[in-house]
Amino acid sequence: MSPPVNPVTSNEKLPTTVDVVVVGGGIIGCLSAYYLALKRLSVAVIEKGYIACEQSSRNWGWCRQTGRDRRELPLIRESLMLWAGLNEAVGGDTGFRRTGLLYVTKDAGVLARWEEWLKTARDYQIPTRILNGEAARALMPGCEQVWAGGLYTANDGRAEPAMATPVIAEAARRLGATLHQSCAARGLETEAGAVSAVVTEKGTVRTRAVLCAAGGWSSLLCRRHDIELPQLNVRASVLSTEPAAHVADNPISTPGFGVRRRLDGGYTVGLRGHATLDLIPDAFRYIRAFWPGYVQERENITVKLSAAFFEALLRPSHWPLDEVSPFERTRVLDPVPDQAVLDLALANLKAAYPILRDVKVAERWAGMIDITPDAVPVISPVETLPGFYLATGFSGHGFGIAPAAARLAADLITGDSPLLDPSPFRYSRMIDGTRLVPETGL
Ligand SMILES: Cc1cc2nc3c(=O)[nH]c(=O)nc-3n(C[C@H](O)[C@H](O)[C@H](O)COP(=O)(O)OP(=O)(O)OC[C@H]3O[C@@H](n4cnc5c(N)ncnc54)[C@H](O)[C@@H]3O)c2cc1C
Repeated sequence: MSPPVNPVTSNEKLPTTVDVVVVGGGIIGCLSAYYLALKRLSVAVIEKGYIACEQSSRNWGWCRQTGRDRRELPLIRESLMLWAGLNEAVGGDTGFRRTGLLYVTKDAGVLARWEEWLKTARDYQIPTRILNGEAARALMPGCEQVWAGGLYTANDGRAEPAMATPVIAEAARRLGATLHQSCAARGLETEAGAVSAVVTEKGTVRTRAVLCAAGGWSSLLCRRHDIELPQLNVRASVLSTEPAAHVADNPISTPGFGVRRRLDGGYTVGLRGHATLDLIPDAFRYIRAFWPGYVQERENITVKLSAAFFEALLRPSHWPLDEVSPFERTRVLDPVPDQAVLDLALANLKAAYPILRDVKVAERWAGMIDITPDAVPVISPVETLPGFYLATGFSGHGFGIAPAAARLAADLITGDSPLLDPSPFRYSRMIDGTRLVPETGL
């Protein structure tokens, strides 16, 4: 079941030529279009479903530095500065609020690990603090559980997935970008070895630059053009509640549930570290790249053989551009939520907060998180195909880091001095034998 998202209308006419085609109308694609349009480039956003129909409307809405991989800390630090001015810049409410963000634990061993992460935070001037149990509980009014301690970052925040991408898309349009929904990009055309056009189901757009911001579909689009991109999708489940008693503005992560208050007065609830990897042929294709990360993270990932294996097996990796592509066959990736995980998260939330005992569930859904072997995105040109750029593989962190990631992608396309060092996000690390491992999380 899809979560609600504010609707956006499409532009009527597909342009024949633009400076940049952005494939994917998620938060990364729409923000990249916005920054490219700010640089006065003509841009078309091509979306197979509707704006924010996949991960960008299904996520928890946390904008978090806390516990981030060292390689992503510059991105999230810049992003939080950009988020702070984004409502004004885009002329609408993304839902961003700087609320602080809290992790709590009952385990002294976990607290010791958090102490270690504080050193990283200090290196990047991030004001994260360890709290004792009492101080942590003071940030959780109504919570009747006792904690060993907490990890708190006062300048982290949250935003509203249902609102953010649509207002950003509209802002890009006001700057001249066009938005095309129910319009799959089937593939690219090339001339003299460089990108020359994008073929969509509604026609061809000539261009010298394409940004692939296609989330969990990026690897398939790349394979169509013989570009290897090791990427897998893991399924994560979420529920939303009806408006309920106010307990905290800051998102809270506990071992038994994660919770964020929304602007409509309800809560978005999930359970950290409970993702499912549906075994598909890509899992075998990329097993070497993902194995070190899998070994490290296996407690958090359930591997399942399901119908998804056979669906993926039947999906072609090459198709003629004048025929229906796999992208049109799945307009919106809308996986089935794991009800047992959601029931557990809700029961844990109610046990911790008696004041929420009668809270009513509004919706349940799941989303496919696109992961890379080192859980760090690829924001990069692809050297073997001039004019082709990637901004993908956000590995469950792409909502919070979207503003700086998209600015960086726009800088790389225009050749402007990049907002920050792009080398940790280079595509070449995926294929040059670099050992790809995620940093151990919190
Ligand atoms: C349950 C869940 C919880 C999460 N929680 C958080 C969180 O709290 N904080 C955080 O920072 N991140 C979180 N994330 C991750 C975050 O949502 C993603 O990293 C981010 O939204 C990625 O944005 P995107 O634009 O790259 O991808 P998407 O939002 O998936 O957008 C890609 C778009 O491309 C379109 N597309 C694909 N192929 C084609 C094609 N060929 N032609 C046209 N269109 C195409 C798709 O339809 C899709 O709309 C979470 C994700 C999930 C699923």
